[in-house]
Amino acid sequence: ERLGATEARPGKMTAPALTLNATSALWNGNTDFKPVMQCTEVKALQPSSGGANAQERYRISLSDGDLFTHAMLATQLVDRVKDGRIQPGSVLRLTEFLCNVVHGRKIVIVLNCDALGSRAIQGAPQNIQSKGPAGAPPQAAQAPAGAGQHQQPYQQPYQQQQPPPQHQQPYSAGGYGANMQQQQQRLSGGKENIQQQGGNNYYNETKPSMQQQQQQPNYQNPHQPPPPSYQQQQYQQPPQQPNPYNNGHHQQGRQAPYQQQQQQRGSYGGNPGGVGGYQQQGGAPQYGHGGNQHQQQHQQPNYVQRGPISRNEAPVRIVPIKSLNPYLNRWTIQARATNKSDIRRWQNAKGEGTVFNFDVCDVEGGEIRICAFKEACEKFFPVIEVGKVYMISKGSLRPARKQYNPLNSDFEIYLETSSTIEPCVEDERTSSIPSINFNFKPVMALETMNTGSIVDVVGVVLTVDGIATIQRRDGTETQKRSLSVKDDSNGVIELTCWGNFATNVGQELEDACAKGEHPVVAVKSARLGEYNGKTLGTISSTQLLVNPDLPEAGRLRHWFDQAGGAQSQATALGQGSMGGRRDRRVQMEQIMEEGLGQGGKPDYVECRGAVEFIKDNPLFYPACSLQRNGRTCQKKLQMLGVEDGDGGEAKGWCETCQAQSIPMYRYILQLKFTDASCGRWITCFGDQGEVVMGMPAGELQRVPEGDERMHFLDRAKFAEYVVKLKVAEETYNEESRIKCSISRLTPVNYAQEASELLAGIQLLLDGGDNRNVRPRY
Ligand SMILES: [Zn+2]
Repeated sequence: ERLGATEARPGKMTAPALTLNATSALWNGNTDFKPVMQCTEVKALQPSSGGANAQERYRISLSDGDLFTHAMLATQLVDRVKDGRIQPGSVLRLTEFLCNVVHGRKIVIVLNCDALGSRAIQGAPQNIQSKGPAGAPPQAAQAPAGAGQHQQPYQQPYQQQQPPPQHQQPYSAGGYGANMQQQQQRLSGGKENIQQQGGNNYYNETKPSMQQQQQQPNYQNPHQPPPPSYQQQQYQQPPQQPNPYNNGHHQQGRQAPYQQQQQQRGSYGGNPGGVGGYQQQGGAPQYGHGGNQHQQQHQQPNYVQRGPISRNEAPVRIVPIKSLNPYLNRWTIQARATNKSDIRRWQNAKGEGTVFNFDVCDVEGGEIRICAFKEACEKFFPVIEVGKVYMISKGSLRPARKQYNPLNSDFEIYLETSSTIEPCVEDERTSSIPSINFNFKPVMALETMNTGSIVDVVGVVLTVDGIATIQRRDGTETQKRSLSVKDDSNGVIELTCWGNFATNVGQELEDACAKGEHPVVAVKSARLGEYNGKTLGTISSTQLLVNPDLPEAGRLRHWFDQAGGAQSQATALGQGSMGGRRDRRVQMEQIMEEGLGQGGKPDYVECRGAVEFIKDNPLFYPACSLQRNGRTCQKKLQMLGVEDGDGGEAKGWCETCQAQSIPMYRYILQLKFTDASCGRWITCFGDQGEVVMGMPAGELQRVPEGDERMHFLDRAKFAEYVVKLKVAEETYNEESRIKCSISRLTPVNYAQEASELLAGIQLLLDGGDNRNVRPRY
């Protein structure tokens, strides 16, 4: 019966089912869904050429239980591999992803996903790349006579990868066929090497095989001119009507997975016209070559889109800035210039020249810095106007230099003279591209950021100082005014406004505060300084908005007006008085790691976790209900038998009161309280027990033991609480041990936990010290 009850218990997280046919849909470029897939493999890719800019990369395998595909993890997800949220067995919901063709090779890139738990790898998924027509023997895969001469040099070393003749013939003569074969050449040669256009940033497998090394020269065969159709389609596409964010794959629609499945399941050769819209170039059977596992892994299918819009008419492919990455070789972004530097001269060992940069943001809130040197600087500097929208393409992506660049992209675009920048007219679409894009940091997170960082902050103005005139070093004068700003991380920071910010906006804020209003300010690009703790100051590129129409501002307004105002505890940065009134938040494992409670006096700490288990005995005890010294005694009673004529009510004897007492039941729960680090048995008394059980102890006492009582115990499990723990050493029978008991217990306030966690996460992202963060949230 116990087992049954356990199985039925609610709340245990179970990862949801995998999305049927998700792998095929991904491959067909469908991005209009959020598939649940299982990670079956994680592989670290190493840059083939080292260097300071080399970035860690991971390739994972994503399975729908039937087929899997390789996928690259965007750099912002690398940490999730490191902390184990993405590992073999993880069930993930892909929330942002792309499927691009890079050098004719399909690359799935996961930009964002939710981890939904983990379980044993489901089924025996096969690589979608390797899925070929069943039973086609390797020698039958020889290219047919009519397959086109240019294909041969690539095919010879890899005959077993060639598709069966019946798939090539329909296309071998026409424009599509030529294109397809060219694509296939690239597929045959591309293999595991993901090469950036320009060649300076490509990644090999951690352990490159001989086959790969042999393939590389083939791929780069200089004697192999690409056929015209490929060039025309891939590189000489004239810009057409913008079709934002439609990368061409979308048009394939939701039917695609099923069509492809059909082909894989046998109707492969029977559809020579490619009516379904896709033609898969089959490879060798998955298990055909015992000795050459590597090549089998890289069988490349090939899809040729034959939808209503042919490739020749493909629209310009506007991609979100957030999706830009070195694997994306053709892209256009449509973005508004938000900031522009002057032309600067530089000089170093490599030479000298001019440079300017500007920042842009797009309709999805992606932002990126664009740099132009020398000739490109001269060409594009006159073109760019802050506030205008441009179509920008053909730049190269480099890792962002985060010390100078506060934008939310991991990359910067370097323009060349061949890059294109075309102004867009303001229309319905471009008008929705913001003119300013914030990347707010919680005030609390600023404390551990480096001085000199450029940050965005949104907060409520608490106080405004009067204006002061300051003499600069060069003798000129400027105005200065300080504000104190607080946000819902409960941090307060001083913002020094200089020049126009002190006179104009500063006066507006002073007037508002004088009327008892506390406006919300959003500050873009303030510089973090240090003066008696961390401070902020405006610089020339700073933008300061008062009561802006932003969701964050609305959130803060609400927070401040409700609870975050003067009542709540504010922590001024840099004054070393973090969370004095709250107990230190620790992970459960720290209780043992840090030897809490062993210092001769109890330690009090705060933990957030869940009730994992409750011992069914003891649950409560009969407590003395007599009043003694103005409060209820509550000592444990020794129960007496029911006396005749006493209405059947049991009584107990209180040793302390030396009197009989009617028992009042009090909880004494032994529960296992668990967080992400570990679980621990702790004791939970009285009122806290009542919160856990959701009923008074006396009520539970009346529930018959066994299944009925167990029902209530099960019901109480897996609820999450923030608890204040008393950790103290107790001695029983000359043996001392550390006992934890709950002195306060509250259900988790998720909104507050989330905002504190966000502040902590931001600290980590900004390079803060984890150990300093921990105690604070
Ligand atoms: Zn008593």
